[in-house]
Amino acid sequence: MADQKGLLMLENFIAGKFVPASSHLDSFDPSTGEVYCRVPDSGPKEVEAAVLAAKDAFPAWSSKSPQERAQILNKLADLLEQSLEDFAQAESRDQAGLISPWNLPLYLLTWKIAPAIAVGNTVIAKPSEMTSVTAWMLCKLLNKAGVPAGVVNVVFGRGPKAGEALVSHPEVPLISFTGSTLTAERIMQQSAPYCKKLSLELGGKNPAIVFEDANLDECIATTVRSSFANQGEICLCTSRIFVQRSIYQDFLKRFVDATKQWKVGSPSDPAASVGALISKEHLQKVRNYVQKAQDGGAQILCGEGVDTLNLPVRNQKGYFMLPTVIADIKDESPCMQEEIFGPVTCVVAFDTEEEVIQRANSVKYGLAATVWSSHVGRVHRVAKRLQSGLVWANCWLIRELNLPFGGMKASGIGREGAKDSYEFFTEVKTITIKH
Ligand code: NAD
Repeated sequence: MADQKGLLMLENFIAGKFVPASSHLDSFDPSTGEVYCRVPDSGPKEVEAAVLAAKDAFPAWSSKSPQERAQILNKLADLLEQSLEDFAQAESRDQAGLISPWNLPLYLLTWKIAPAIAVGNTVIAKPSEMTSVTAWMLCKLLNKAGVPAGVVNVVFGRGPKAGEALVSHPEVPLISFTGSTLTAERIMQQSAPYCKKLSLELGGKNPAIVFEDANLDECIATTVRSSFANQGEICLCTSRIFVQRSIYQDFLKRFVDATKQWKVGSPSDPAASVGALISKEHLQKVRNYVQKAQDGGAQILCGEGVDTLNLPVRNQKGYFMLPTVIADIKDESPCMQEEIFGPVTCVVAFDTEEEVIQRANSVKYGLAATVWSSHVGRVHRVAKRLQSGLVWANCWLIRELNLPFGGMKASGIGREGAKDSYEFFTEVKTITIKH
């Protein structure tokens, strides 16, 4: 459906049908700053209709055999695979409520929907209002794959309106949420009167620890990637790099040189490795962090405010920012404590193993960490003591999807998936060592 200006107008997907919305929000193309589609601005009424559809579909869907459900899911997976090109072009037990963020929008949404419906739940999903198109495209495939009406319902809209209506609906007993820690606090408050079961996958302030015996060639290439991949807008991205003092200056120089090789540009530029940030507001927030660091006496070694950003005319109103490296910064400063979620990383020196463990743990988050050392005993010693759901050694983002995933402290709750395979699931961390 398109509006008078020819802009794509999304519709909610309820009980297997696309339902036109009565009001819409603008959704912006981050690479140009222009409106490129309009998203339903749903609220309690639309959520109510989706809950009814999910309730109606539940008895038949939950009584299907696992094999029958698997057949339908496999068909959906095949259809998704066949449509991958279309998705790439679009860029960027019970009624379970699924709320997902704007980064990795299709990946994180399907990661919630697939296991939930595989075991017989019916769901209401609320994707981020900033990245709704891929979820809407997925809805088209659900009917084709034979997913019965009402098993997956998608209600688009803003968090405080559509999201809260879902969280506070008495007949939605489980909320699976991926997003910021601040929103999770609100969700915990809103769902408390109903004692809802919550799964929360939240923010991070992920350290990389580089010991003097690390393979620096591999470490620098990987740590530039772990800091700036997807513009730093991955919850697992590195944002604090602790380097042993004996190699600190050498590391810093090589790291900054390697960072400068990363070209910022439009999604259609094959040479570009860094794209636009999600929104104008988010870009401003990330820039403010760099400014705060500078005001506090830190050094900006490259990127924001130091180098010049060259963009094609078409992209000059886009939300782009250069990858930025900060040094000489105090552990207590906001850039070292708070999640920035942009292309900004801080590099600091440390002296001893004991000291770096304490400093790496001295934030409220505990999602992911990386240890770089060729001493396997040290890797195990340090990884064990890091307050982090995931620890990579001499690598980053190598994933085995059967292993438990999730954070400690303010990075999340609900790692029950690990319960079956581990006795003390809250103590489990996933350590991946590259040999
Ligand atoms: P966000 O918390 O602003 O929004 C996430 C989702 O929650 C969106 O769909 C939003 O509309 C909705 N929402 C907002 N307010 C709500 C409310 N009051 N009630 C119900 N729903 C509400 O997060 P974001 O900016 O979209 O995403 C970035 C954050 O997500 C970062 O903090 C990042 O670290 C985190 N994240 C974590 C993981 C992980 O697996 N740990 C993965 C990806 C992103």
